Amino acid sequence: MEPTTFRAGYVAILGKPNAGKSTLLNTLLQQKISIVTPKPQTTRHKILGIVNSSDYQILFLDTPGLLQPKYKLHEAMMSAAYSAINDADVVLLLIDGTDCNLEEIDEDISLKILEGCKKPVFLLINKIDVLQKGKILQLISKFTEKFSFTEYFPLSALNGENVLQIVATIVPLLPVHPPYYETEQMSDMSERFFVSEIIREKIFELCRQEIPYSTTVDIIEFKEQEGKPDIINAEIILERDSQKRIVIGKKGIMLRTIGINARQDIEKFLGRYVYLELYVKVREDWRESDNFLKQFGYK
Ligand code: GDP
Ligand code: MG
Repeated sequence: MEPTTFRAGYVAILGKPNAGKSTLLNTLLQQKISIVTPKPQTTRHKILGIVNSSDYQILFLDTPGLLQPKYKLHEAMMSAAYSAINDADVVLLLIDGTDCNLEEIDEDISLKILEGCKKPVFLLINKIDVLQKGKILQLISKFTEKFSFTEYFPLSALNGENVLQIVATIVPLLPVHPPYYETEQMSDMSERFFVSEIIREKIFELCRQEIPYSTTVDIIEFKEQEGKPDIINAEIILERDSQKRIVIGKKGIMLRTIGINARQDIEKFLGRYVYLELYVKVREDWRESDNFLKQFGYK
């Protein structure tokens, strides 16, 4: 490798909740590191995923979904999106082609957040595996009217269509720079963070209505043991006492199921066995409290 031709840089993936940002990141990394669920707003943190090759290193920032801020938590999510744009060399705007109202495009938060952005921005129309060609062309023409995108691609984050072409187009736009991270490192987030994300994903999959949105997971102990499974103790934090009954379930069955499902995925992710203990705690209205948001790592 010629050190003078190696390229490295940051790429922010922006889009509304459910656009497919986490799916795209997972396809790019070919390993599940960012949680993917059919419900919106599951990603609250910036997640860094790294794609390595012999002549480039791309650092992907997965951002929380773009939406109009309603709670303090939402404001924190928006500022994470802005800071991702700020840190990026290239910005990818991901649009869910199956959930996009062309009449309301002027009000679109994804376009608003790009106002004044001088960086190269790619328009990515996602979910083309379930879209008609006419609709794809319509979306591209509407969006490119509103913002001067550097490139546009239809893609399927799910089946990988066009994903490699996107990477190939990003690379020449990155600065010539030595790699930022050791090349075998997939992400700079700790195992602890991914473990809490996996537990949160299981709550999203199993609990209905407002519960997943009121939940955060705090890892209180994570201990590796020589020749024995890791010990992981985690607290599931809820906003109200009435939610406890639902998360624990009849005779504790819900909590047990969350625990079993989470443990299986955690073991797959870590590549080793774990003992997982889950506790349920209530922190009244934690989403509205600066102190709790800080304590649970959102600020
Ligand atoms: P995020 O909120 O933007 O991170 O979105 P996710 O990656 O969690 O995806 C939201 C939902 O859209 C999930 O059910 C995905 O399986 C689905 N999805 C993502 N990409 C595609 C795609 O290319 N095609 C189809 N059909 N579904 C997709
Ligand atoms: Mg996501």
